[in-house]
Order: sequence, then structure tokens, then C-alpha cells
Amino acid sequence: MTAKVAIQNLNQVSMEIRELETTQQEGVFARVMKYGHEQVVHCYDESTGLKALIAIHNTALGPALGGTRMWNYTTEQEALTDVLRLSRGMTFKAAISGLNLGGGKAVLIGDARTMKTEPYLRRFGKFIQSLGGKYWTAEDVNMKTSDMEYIGMETKYVTGLPETMGGGGDPSPVTAYGTYLGIKATAKKVFGSESLSGKKIGVQGVGQVGSHLVERLVKENAKVVITDIYEDKVKEVALKFGVDTVAQDKIYDLDMDIYAPCALGATLNDDTIPRLKCAMVAGGANNQLKDELKHGYMLMDRSIAYAPDFLINAGGLINVYNEYLGNYNRERTYQQAEKIFDTCLHILNFAEREKITSQEAAIQLAEKRMLEVGRVRIPR
Ligand code: NAD
Repeated sequence: MTAKVAIQNLNQVSMEIRELETTQQEGVFARVMKYGHEQVVHCYDESTGLKALIAIHNTALGPALGGTRMWNYTTEQEALTDVLRLSRGMTFKAAISGLNLGGGKAVLIGDARTMKTEPYLRRFGKFIQSLGGKYWTAEDVNMKTSDMEYIGMETKYVTGLPETMGGGGDPSPVTAYGTYLGIKATAKKVFGSESLSGKKIGVQGVGQVGSHLVERLVKENAKVVITDIYEDKVKEVALKFGVDTVAQDKIYDLDMDIYAPCALGATLNDDTIPRLKCAMVAGGANNQLKDELKHGYMLMDRSIAYAPDFLINAGGLINVYNEYLGNYNRERTYQQAEKIFDTCLHILNFAEREKITSQEAAIQLAEKRMLEVGRVRIPR
């Protein structure tokens, strides 16, 4: 696919994304066309019970790199929706972050606690290898660096390997660092200063990314309030960093300056946006806007600034990108992640000038780079 055709497809996507939610009954091809994907691969192995979907959204800028998520999806349609949405997000994430990568993602359908064995993971690795480098994998939900080791026994197209094997290790500290910089850039735009000292920040989800983020925010003397669905996690993080807590559903009603979603997606929706009392939203979770057009504009109408999630949580991708380039270097990785601050500020200013949402602005800039660079790039 040429870069121009790829961009034409992407332009259609923004308008059609809402429609997609109501087209669950449509066949695979209709849905793939709507999202503008290049290829969706269905993988099945009888002996291990492996059922995987690999979605290659766009390779205008490079091979499609994106993690593998393992989830006990209720229906195959749900798994397909997830992999299509996530892989599209990876295309924009790589493009806006200046990386020479396309967008892709894989989902494994099943219970990670019982099905994820060595043969299962190695069989999945073989499927990835068969794509000849068009798709590269890494960790996502329910996948660890040790799983990447098994996958890597059958394919060279794998990142997210442990540091002892020359990999970049756990990407979440870099994700949290980029998210922290995105919060600071948005604060500069909204409050006139990037300092977070004294700012009340509600962090939803204190897993890998959320807990690293809390550490950075506390160091800067922010007043942090946390929540999680797991009581023990909340207690542990609250005790470790000396922060306040709030009940899970009460976070949306909290009087706060900044809401930082670091759990799952779609927490910005019809129900939650009218309840928010903050001046800005900036966090590490993927796909925060349930409907990226409608809910982007709902936030704008309420004068709540929004830092595009796929931009400010790109630290993890930057980490695995550096591994993909070879000779992983932590310092170089953090230097690249630092650019998130300027890019975020640039997007917020661009959105203001154009009177569009920051999400639309980020997608426009990502598409522009894909078109311009995609035309001249020499494939590796
Ligand atoms: P994680 O599973 O370690 O943490 C998520 C936490 O959110 C868990 O503690 C979970 O209990 C909590 N949670 C889930 N639903 C919740 C709810 N409704 N209310 C409160 N808490 C809730 O995952 P993670 O790696 O920290 O990733 C967090 C988010 O960041 C995800 O959306 C992920 O896709 C995104 N992300 C992660 C990385 C990374 O490097 N790990 C990179 C980019 C994006």
C-alpha cells in the first residue's frame, strides 16, 4: 500500500469510527475496510488451543510494531474490535512520536492463567515469524518479558525482552516518564506553568504505569489522590508514597486540578465527562475517549484540556523501538521520550488555533508525517 492510499484510508476512519460501534454484526472485511487496515491474520493451533488475531494497520513508516494482549474475550467480535482499535492507535502513536514504525497489535483469545504455556507461546512465535517481519511484537496486558523469551525462541521479530538478553526490559517506567511530561506540558498550557507543585491530581489505576507516575508526581510535591479496583494495591501505593485515596467510582466527582487515567480505556464517556471538575485530563491509559470525536468535543465544550493518550503514553513504544533498532541504550530512550513535552504543547496550541480537539490535531499531524515521510522513506 502506498503512503497516499494509506492516508486516504485514515482520513475516512475519523468520520466512521462512531459508526463502527454499532456495526458489530458486520463481517471481517467490512470492518477492516472501515478502519483502513492492511492485513488481519487469524491464527489457530489445535494442539495448544491457540487462537490469535494479528492486525497490521499501516506500514507506511515501517514495520507494524505493537504488543500482544491476552484476554478472555467473551466473543470473537470483541477480540476483533480490540485488535482493530489498538493497532490503529499504534499507527498514530509511532507517527506522532517520530518513530520509523507502522501500527500493529495482536490479541490472544483465552485465559492467561491456564492457557499460556511454553508450546502455546512458541506456536504463536511461529505465526509471527511467518509474516516475515511485517509485524513485530512486545508485551501488553497479561504478557510479561518472560513470555517474550518463549515467543523469541521461534521468531526474531520480538521486542520487550529482558535486559539480561539485550532487551529494554519493562517499558512502564518510560511510559510513566512520558506521561509525566505530557501532564507538565498540558499544565503549562492550562495553568501557565509546568510546575505540578500543589496541584491536586487524581490517578486512576496504580498498576505498572500508575505507580511509577505517582512516584514522579509526589517528588514534585503534587497532592496525589489514587484509586484502583484492588484494595491491596491502593493500600500499598498509598503507604509507600504517602498519598490520599478515593473510592473507585468517586474519582470522577473529585475536586481536582488534573485527572490522570492510568487504568483501562473508555473512561471519558457520556456518564463521566459531565461529572469532571478538573481543568485538564492527561494520563497513561490507552483509548481514554470512548468515542474520540464526540467525547473529545464534550471535553472541549466544558473547557477541559485533554492530552492525547497515544502521544503522552508513547514512552513504552519508544522503549521497544530502541530495542528494535539494536544496541538498546536507556539514556537514548529517555532522551527520545523527552520530546513528548514539546510535541504535546505544539498539539495543544495547534488545536486551539484550528478550533479542533487535541485528539483530532494529533491525528492530523500524525497523518501528515505518514504522508510526507512515507513517500520518501527507504525501507530497512
Ligand atoms: P496494569 O494492569 O499494571 O495497571 C492497571 C491498573 O488499573 C490495575 O491495577 C487495575 O486494577 C486498575 N484498574 C482497572 N480498572 C480500573 C478502574 N475502573 N478503576 C480503577 N482502577 C482500575 O497496566 P499498566 O501496564 O499500568 O497499563 C495501564 C494503562 O496504560 C493501560 O491502558 C495500558 O494499555 C496503558 N499503557 C501501558 C503501557 C506500559 O508501558 N505498561 C504503555 C502504553 C500504554
